[in-house]
Amino acid sequence: MDISGPRGTHDILPDEIKIWHKMEQVLRKTAEIYGYSEIRTPIFEYTELFERGVGGTTDIVQKEMYTFEDKAGRSLTLRPEGTASCARAFIQHRMYNQPQPTKMYYIGPMFRYDRPQSGRYRQFHQFGVEVFGTRSPAVDAEVITLMVDIVKRLGLRRYELHLNTVGCGNCRPHYRQTLTEFLRPLQADLCRDCQSRVDSNPLRVLDCKEKRCREILAGFPSILDSICEECREHFERVKSVLDLYGVQYILDERLVRGLDYYTNTAFELLVPGLGAQNAVGGGGRYDNLVAQVGGPDTVGIGFAMGMERLLLALEENQVELVDGEGVEVYVAFNSPELEPLANIALNELRSADIKAERDYGDRSLRAQMKQANRSQAVVTVLIGENEAKSGTYSLRDMDTGEQFEIEQNALIAEIKKILMK
Ligand code: AMP
Repeated sequence: MDISGPRGTHDILPDEIKIWHKMEQVLRKTAEIYGYSEIRTPIFEYTELFERGVGGTTDIVQKEMYTFEDKAGRSLTLRPEGTASCARAFIQHRMYNQPQPTKMYYIGPMFRYDRPQSGRYRQFHQFGVEVFGTRSPAVDAEVITLMVDIVKRLGLRRYELHLNTVGCGNCRPHYRQTLTEFLRPLQADLCRDCQSRVDSNPLRVLDCKEKRCREILAGFPSILDSICEECREHFERVKSVLDLYGVQYILDERLVRGLDYYTNTAFELLVPGLGAQNAVGGGGRYDNLVAQVGGPDTVGIGFAMGMERLLLALEENQVELVDGEGVEVYVAFNSPELEPLANIALNELRSADIKAERDYGDRSLRAQMKQANRSQAVVTVLIGENEAKSGTYSLRDMDTGEQFEIEQNALIAEIKKILMK
């Protein structure tokens, strides 16, 4: 039997988990500051939801879904992204009957059958936000600012925010037509995927990562020449709020969302130095999505960020997320008879929210002191026969090397004094 995990999956081991907790803490806190509440949806849905909500012509739906039949013959799919599920929940629970907008965030695993490589997994984690029920350009700017704020709070300084508009149902068909006319004579020279995209989804040709396609496309027609007055106005207002917030962006006309329910604002956050998988997050406005998956006409906007990519970006930029790795107090005892006393101290410390540890390997007192040093303990509680007899503990301040005896019932108060120094 193969005892490795499935290809494209990864374990998050106990010594890595702290950095995940810390990142999750920043994500949740930032979302909450901006007024978003968490939603938890199932990790599988009816396949049809993603076919409609992600789009039948996307790579996700065409190639990357983990789809299976349950025992009753229903087609289910492990969620490849979070937006469709949020839209489904919004409709199912009639959230549109509440005062709008509805602002939510999610965090959890996603599944895509793609070729694994650095920064690309088959099970990965996303944090994302969705806002339903307002067309205000200020909300586009809020969502974008939230995404940028997250990378700043995580300590990343090098990133690029790319921004574009993809127009609306009125003006995009005109652009699509213009673009198709431009692409048609070049079609045979494009990569295989793009050759078919020219007919199925020509806007997606613009964001193809193949070098050949990027070169051939030089001089492509700009969407800004095709959008209607309303879309232009919306885009200008989004930019002016971002300017007000001091959020810097790069206008990028290659940035597109190919599906009909995407409208207006599109954005992506890139971190240089991550190689081919340099997109840390992306999002956009989807004013026709809720209707597309069967709900009442409701506008929306959102983004998703890849958590493994965020961690890679932090690593690449030598940003340390976790401080205070070690324990605060180490409890050392001289012989097995003293173990109950050590356990009482340990329990007392932990009940007082003090991070405490002990030895479980019957090591000598000397070896335990070494272990205390290695675990970066600030104080060590020493329990020997003398202390047991006199109802005391010895405390050693690991910083100064100073050692003194205290009454057992003064343990927490004395430890806190040292910890707060
Ligand atoms: P998307 O839902 O495709 O817009 O992706 C949003 C973000 O999720 C991307 O910018 C990546 O950071 C991350 N992401 C997407 N696919 C994967 C994957 N297969 N493995 C790891 N991260 C991914």
